[in-house]
Amino acid sequence: MVAHAGDTEGAAGVRVRLVGVSKRFGAIQALRGLTLSVHTGEILVLLGPSGCGKTTALRIVAGLEYPDEGWVELAGQVVAGPRWVPPEARGVGMVFQEPSLFPHLTALENVSFGLRGLSRSERLRRAHQVLDRVGIRDLADRFPHELSGGEQQRVALARALAPGPSVLLLDEPLSSLDPELRRRMREELRHILKEEGCTAILVTHDQEEAFAVADRIGVLSRGRLWQVGPPEEIYHAPACRFVADFVGEAEFLPGRVYDHVARTELGDFPCNGLPEGTPVEVMVRPAELAVEPSPDGPGVVVGRRFRGPETVYEVRLASGQVVRCRLSGDKVLKPGTRVRVWATSPRTVVFPAEGVDVAG
Ligand code: ATP
Repeated sequence: MVAHAGDTEGAAGVRVRLVGVSKRFGAIQALRGLTLSVHTGEILVLLGPSGCGKTTALRIVAGLEYPDEGWVELAGQVVAGPRWVPPEARGVGMVFQEPSLFPHLTALENVSFGLRGLSRSERLRRAHQVLDRVGIRDLADRFPHELSGGEQQRVALARALAPGPSVLLLDEPLSSLDPELRRRMREELRHILKEEGCTAILVTHDQEEAFAVADRIGVLSRGRLWQVGPPEEIYHAPACRFVADFVGEAEFLPGRVYDHVARTELGDFPCNGLPEGTPVEVMVRPAELAVEPSPDGPGVVVGRRFRGPETVYEVRLASGQVVRCRLSGDKVLKPGTRVRVWATSPRTVVFPAEGVDVAG
């Protein structure tokens, strides 16, 4: 682990804190009252669809944009809002979608370029150390055009890590890579950030990437933060329908609360104390819906997608709603087969139906 610039901390190890941060670009409200903390050594992933404000949040932390409202603290010091600390004095490193290396410098020179206040030999030692850390020590003397896209992005990561930034901001750092390399790099990126002891904020619109890299995920939509939590919590206990839908395949079964349970076409579910009579939607993941042939079953197979280790079946229920169920193994159910469908997990999540204000 390297010494981090500005090595003091805010309350309870909070390294980055955004409080009520809003930002407008003309008619577009890019961020709406964003409040968020990142702890020392934590990897926080901001996940959300295109245009939800992820990059704007990063740029505000980096000092490349001013917040209209709210403030930002780094290690307990206000750096944006009532007080302004310029980007170069924040000790923040950035990695962008494109590696943007200097084409006339080698990998080693690209990495050592930004290391100030060190002797030449110290700069080279540190540059070699981080190239080693990102797994390309043998490529130190190559120029960017002699490196693959993945290798160039490793150099960009090494360059950002080299000064030992207080916080590392990564804006879709894997999105220029092909899907297979991208999948492999996710785990490695997490490993590298943990080895370096980085506090990092990474933004992505890819939920699998978020699950693979994050300690905690913050889900953004239309400039608003809907939920922050560990990946498992975001997936299994989404706070709202948007989060449920965005982080994985989800089916929503309409129902109503009677006798303290949510009654749906696929049975009764715990209803989290919602008032009697409340219209609800019960979220179930397709992997948690079992299906089996049953001559008198209320469902009919209407579609089938083979995905190798599993098959996704589309089943039309008696109400007409079509739900997806995932089945592993080699059993094949032909379209038209009558089936029975049931939820296998007790972890279903119940939301009041859209437009229902339970508190009111
Ligand atoms: P993507 O995943 O597509 O990069 P994002 O979630 O990072 O999207 P932002 O880049 O933060 O989204 O943009 C949020 C909104 O603010 C978008 O509607 C965008 O068009 C708008 N926006 C961002 N920067 C500017 C700017 N400098 N001028 C005008 N509008 C902007």
